Amino acid sequence: MIILGEDSQRVKDQDAQAYNIRAARAVAEAVRSTLGPKGMDKMLVDSMGDVTVTNDGVTILKEMDIDNPTAEMIIEVAETQEDEAGDGTTTAVAIAGELLKNAEDLLEQDIHPTAVIKGYNLASEKAREEVDNIAERVEPDDEELLKKVAETSMTGKGAELNKDVLADLVVGAVQQVTVEANDGSHVVDMENVKIETQTGRSAGESELLHGAVINKDPVHDDMPVEFDEADVLLLNEPVEVEETGVDTNVSIDSPDQLQQFLDQEEEQLKKKVDQIVDSGADVVFCQKGIDDLAQHYLAKQGVLAVRRTKKSDIEFLKNVVGGSVVTDLDDVSDADLGFGSVRRDDEDELFYVEGEDAHGVTLLLRGSTDHVVDELERGIHDALDVVATTVSDGRVLAGGGAIEVELASRLRDYADSVSGREQLAVEAFADALELVPRVLAENAGLDAIDTLVDLRAAHEDGDVRAGLNAFTGDVEDTFEAGIVEPAHAKEQALSSATEAANLVLKIDDIIAAGDLSTGGNDDEEGGAPGGMGGMGGMGGMGGAM
Ligand code: ADP
Ligand code: MG
Repeated sequence: MIILGEDSQRVKDQDAQAYNIRAARAVAEAVRSTLGPKGMDKMLVDSMGDVTVTNDGVTILKEMDIDNPTAEMIIEVAETQEDEAGDGTTTAVAIAGELLKNAEDLLEQDIHPTAVIKGYNLASEKAREEVDNIAERVEPDDEELLKKVAETSMTGKGAELNKDVLADLVVGAVQQVTVEANDGSHVVDMENVKIETQTGRSAGESELLHGAVINKDPVHDDMPVEFDEADVLLLNEPVEVEETGVDTNVSIDSPDQLQQFLDQEEEQLKKKVDQIVDSGADVVFCQKGIDDLAQHYLAKQGVLAVRRTKKSDIEFLKNVVGGSVVTDLDDVSDADLGFGSVRRDDEDELFYVEGEDAHGVTLLLRGSTDHVVDELERGIHDALDVVATTVSDGRVLAGGGAIEVELASRLRDYADSVSGREQLAVEAFADALELVPRVLAENAGLDAIDTLVDLRAAHEDGDVRAGLNAFTGDVEDTFEAGIVEPAHAKEQALSSATEAANLVLKIDDIIAAGDLSTGGNDDEEGGAPGGMGGMGGMGGMGGAM
């Protein structure tokens, strides 16, 4: 027996389901308009007044201040999708919303939620099986096809304007860090890919560097900054006078003693500089500080020195030039040194460091303003993940709704073999998948019904790759048209959407410590205790979009 407080509310069975489905669908609808290349952007303003302009599903959902437990479950779907596949977040959330909408119809026909859940699970499993049957193979050296995958993931995003250049860079970066494992599979080590951003020039001037970009200045103006062949020392020890550790008072009684003391310090610094020079280093990237006097000596010896290099940069430089990070100059030898070229970009005030057989690559993204660069970085980040998963997974699909329509058709055939109420749920699942081409058409300003009719007819004729090309408005072989998606992301989207919908359908009882029906946000409500306060937050969200 649960005893509820005076202000608490309890919603059961159909009411609870209806309430949850409404909340989840509201989230799905909020991101739907961004789906596909013709999707719109959203401008999000946070409570601090900071603005984000984006087309990225997961970013939108994260930034929206949603205060509703059901809606939050849907957002988790997007986050899982982002982590697992790097793309397909909007698709996953939109399908989850549609699964719930169709489930609502089934529940109204008095079909038990368990039957719906079971049918959805069967359909999801079958759909993923068919994805594998339909998918085509892609090899890591197939630049042309991988570029199409990269471009498809960039369409509709900030990266789109320069997608030709950027797709080249993304594919090049992934190929650089791909190695073939003993079993013939391909392993992509994304740790070796770094993104650096720079405002000022246009996105089309972005570059792929077979090495690192270090956003630092030389410690001394008289140091050389260009080396074709440099021995590079990575140092994690200060080139400064050592602190004794204990507080010592040096009492100086005469000018001689003072001189002696200063000489001693100078000797210490000289010794460190000599150790650096004797090791054979031409360039030293130091994670710690470098004393003024040491800077002067190093400059005199023609050594380029950079101080307070970020730890992450030092680690990355190690991948680029090789060698090891030296923590004690007393032990340094030439075996510790890395090797590569160092160049200075005076305009951007950056160092470019490249290695012989560099394992580390850097994508230097450029854009005119911070907003542009931020959205570019999000898009490129996703494209990198997408190409990386595609290379390691090795399977691709025709996009533009082609795969969804084909899956829907195969699921309808499969439904005949499913008995009982579950059959209706499998059919409802098939219908839900067709949301993707419908929304792609809608967002491109086309008639959704006409497009779907054409698509179904093409698939009935056996055109497995018939999809919508949102740029031309035509139903065609989207694979040939260059609209290509990774199979892994699609499988993931199918399973996470199903999981989320089923999670919501399983709930038949909501016990809230506050009032469920009030709108507005937490602040206005005075923060009802128990974590379920602010269930009405969705209303506020609609207004914010
Ligand atoms: P998500 O967050 O799900 O990746 P997107 O906004 O990136 O959402 O849209 C992805 C969908 O857009 C996929 O179904 C993909 O096939 C489709 N798509 C991409 N380019 C085109 C195009 N030129 N024409 C039609 N559909 C496209
Ligand atoms: Mg995408």
